[in-house]
Order: sequence, then C-alpha cells, then structure tokens
Amino acid sequence: MITQGSAEQVRSSSSSSHGQALATHKENLLCMVSYCENDVDCRRLLQLIHFGETFDPSHCSKTCDNCKKGLRWIEKDVTNIAKQLVELVLTTRQSCSSSHILEVYRGSLNQNVKKNHHDILPLHGAGKNLAKGEAARVLRHLVTEGILTEDVKKSDTYGSVSSVLKANQVKVGGLRSGKQIVLKFPTADKAPKMGKLDESSISQVNKTVQRQSEMDERIFHRCSMKL
Ligand SMILES: [Zn+2]
Repeated sequence: MITQGSAEQVRSSSSSSHGQALATHKENLLCMVSYCENDVDCRRLLQLIHFGETFDPSHCSKTCDNCKKGLRWIEKDVTNIAKQLVELVLTTRQSCSSSHILEVYRGSLNQNVKKNHHDILPLHGAGKNLAKGEAARVLRHLVTEGILTEDVKKSDTYGSVSSVLKANQVKVGGLRSGKQIVLKFPTADKAPKMGKLDESSISQVNKTVQRQSEMDERIFHRCSMKL
C-alpha cells in the first residue's frame, strides 16, 4: 500500500527523472546541431569524441566532407581561451556537458544556465566576442589532447547517451604552467589559381621585371665601360 507521502515521493522522483531525461535530450540535440553546423573539423573525429574516443584527422585521408574541402588555414594562439574553458569546467565542479560549458562561455541566459546559477560565474560570457565555432574547436582540441575528458554515460531508463566533462589534473597543471596551444583555423582567403593572377600579383610581377631590367642595364653599362 502506498501512503499519500510516499505516493508524492514517487511522483516527485518520476517528475525529476523525466526532467533529467528532458535535459539530456536537449543536450544531445545541441550536440547534433553543433555537429551539423561544423563545416571545418573532421567528421570522424567529431563522431568518435562523442563516444569518448579520439581520432587523428590525418588518418581520415579526405574521406569525409569537411576534410575533402581542402581549406586554407591560419594559426592562432588560443592558450587563453583554453585556460578559461578548463577553469569553467573546474568551477562548475566537472558536472557539465561540453554544450553547457560552451553556452555559459558564450554568455547564454537559458533556463539551464540560470537554474544552476552559472550566469553569475566570472567567466560567464567571457567568450561572447569569439567567432562562431571558435570556442567549440578549442574545447574539442582539449578533449583530443586529453586535458579534458568526456565521461560518457548511457541512461538505463531511456537509453540516451549523456556526457560530462572532467579535467585531467596533471595535464591541466601543464597548461597552467605555460603550455601554449596553437590551433589552425580556416581562412576565407583562396589560393590564387594557376594561370590567373590578381592585381597585386600582377603589380608584384611588374616590379620584379622592372628590377631585373634595371639590373641588366647596370650590368650592360659596366661591361661597356670595361670594353
Ligand atoms: Zn575527415
């Protein structure tokens, strides 16, 4: 027989597990959106990270759509962003998913951020001026390097997969004591095609031809003097 008190307890526990499941589904949806929007990183790397594994994108051999694009890259020092993301993971007691950490870092005021009072953290919104996807790439790199790890769990009740970011204290120590992180980011610049030169290239070629011509004249003049 269930008394009124215990019936309420069962209802409350059921409602809390339903809320938890809903939160997990939302997190997974955000991960899927992030995966779809990512038009830079290797798909194999992204898929395997989701399941708590790592993958070297150079082994993809251009067999996924993003690797096939052959983008041009620029290098950027992202050490400070990396440190801030790690600090966020630690200050939220290593209990949040990557999408939640990114939401907090970007300054989101969504229900989950407010409910956990993560909107009052000093690093809330610290990455709001970064280009779209930049913080996500740094976070993925931290997971690939093992500085952060994704603790993946499968819910017995609903069969859904959820993950929580944890920090590797030894590797975090390395980052804090001066390890530099430089990542490649895609650039919009296109390599000039063979046979087609833009104005700056033509001007550069003209200058080189002019310099060579002046040098030829000087050599000719010197030779004439010696004759
Ligand atoms: Zn790939």
